Amino acid sequence: MPEDRMEKIVSLAKRRGFIYPGSEIYGGFSGFWDYGPYGIELKNNIKQLWWRMFVQEREDMCGVDAAIIMNPEAWKASGHVAGFADPLVECTKCKRRFRADQVGDTCPECGGSFGEVRQFNMMFSTQVGAADGALSYLRPETAGGIFANFKNVVDSLHPKLPFGIAQIGKAFRNEIAPRDFVFRSREFEQMEIEYFVRPGEWEAAFEEWREQVHAFNEAVGIPRSLVHEIEVAPEDRAHYSKRTIDFEFDFPFGRKELYGLAYRTDFDLKAHAQASGADLTYLDESSKERFLPHVIEPSFGVDRTVLALLSAAYAEDDLGGESRTYLKFNPAVAPIKAAVFPLLKNKPELVAKAREVYAMLKKSVPQVMWDDNGNIGKRYRRQDEIGTPYCITVDFDTLGEKPELKDTVTLRDRDTGRQERVALAEMIARVAV
Ligand code: ATP
Repeated sequence: MPEDRMEKIVSLAKRRGFIYPGSEIYGGFSGFWDYGPYGIELKNNIKQLWWRMFVQEREDMCGVDAAIIMNPEAWKASGHVAGFADPLVECTKCKRRFRADQVGDTCPECGGSFGEVRQFNMMFSTQVGAADGALSYLRPETAGGIFANFKNVVDSLHPKLPFGIAQIGKAFRNEIAPRDFVFRSREFEQMEIEYFVRPGEWEAAFEEWREQVHAFNEAVGIPRSLVHEIEVAPEDRAHYSKRTIDFEFDFPFGRKELYGLAYRTDFDLKAHAQASGADLTYLDESSKERFLPHVIEPSFGVDRTVLALLSAAYAEDDLGGESRTYLKFNPAVAPIKAAVFPLLKNKPELVAKAREVYAMLKKSVPQVMWDDNGNIGKRYRRQDEIGTPYCITVDFDTLGEKPELKDTVTLRDRDTGRQERVALAEMIARVAV
């Protein structure tokens, strides 16, 4: 039952400290979510992997971290003030509001009829400064901060085309109907790249980034079989785009957009150059030509990645005659890479040795946890539920009860439940991958 599956994921995420409803003690706040201790580790792992893959390991990429609130002129130039809107309808009877493209002809709550469809701008506005606060906006996408710094980056680094600028950060949209857990929220995080190319080279760059989106999915552990490319029809594309592919994922609530890849032409640089008066052309040293580069934009949602990973990883099975729930995360994103236990809590020599093993492992792999609470079976279940790939137990053989097994531990695999005896060096090598 897909609905049941979604409920189970939401409930596990809350119970085990991945994601909590925002402002929960005040009754929550629709469209806002808080990440807990394991959620933040998962999210950081995703962001670090992305940054390493797309910024640090490449020669043609660099990063920025721009302010969330920009001069409002930037959002006028980008077209967001005039056009970043969803169609809104209000029920004439119960006054509830819906996105017109997501409901039928009558109110799903009370059966009432709808009034006129109107365009609702999704940018959050805010007042900046004490005296006659100037109206500005919380950015609805991170891209704006990249375009606004295009000239700065070119002047600082003199990069050769093609090159890209990446940014990870919060974005805010006053969604009419936040729903499906963190899939559609009002505050979320994006990982975006603006990849600048010569106008004639956009198609090759588009194809390269299309491959890179799949490469990223593979690196975090989003199964290829659950991802589907959709060529977006011209009438459905954003105002700035000449070609868009949506990468949809089979979420428990249906096939929905995970990431987007868009060819934005020179729309943004041209618009910002016109509105700001700055010269945003690029001087090609070899041909001595000046022109506005065109842009390919891969856009990744951090929260939708978290949700896709939770959905793909959630599993139930029977292990040793007991039913269990576990998250089969790829070790690269698992919040905790391994947990270390002393077999018994009340044997000081075992606890001391286990502490030693724990400290040693933690030096090479910081995301390692200590647990001596309850029996071993319970500890395994707890770690399975948060997706820890390995559990390590220190027992009497580790202490040398059987001399040939001294300084070996048991290493238990999350997915199979199988245990192996391995030497300490081997344990570190296995956990560190
Ligand atoms: P949708 O059609 O689902 O509203 P969109 O096409 O407006 O999404 P984009 O503007 O392409 O989304 O945003 C780029 C990425 O940012 C999306 O692919 C998604 O991963 C993420 N994203 C967009 N809106 C939200 C949101 N409300 N909550 C969480 N993530 C979002």
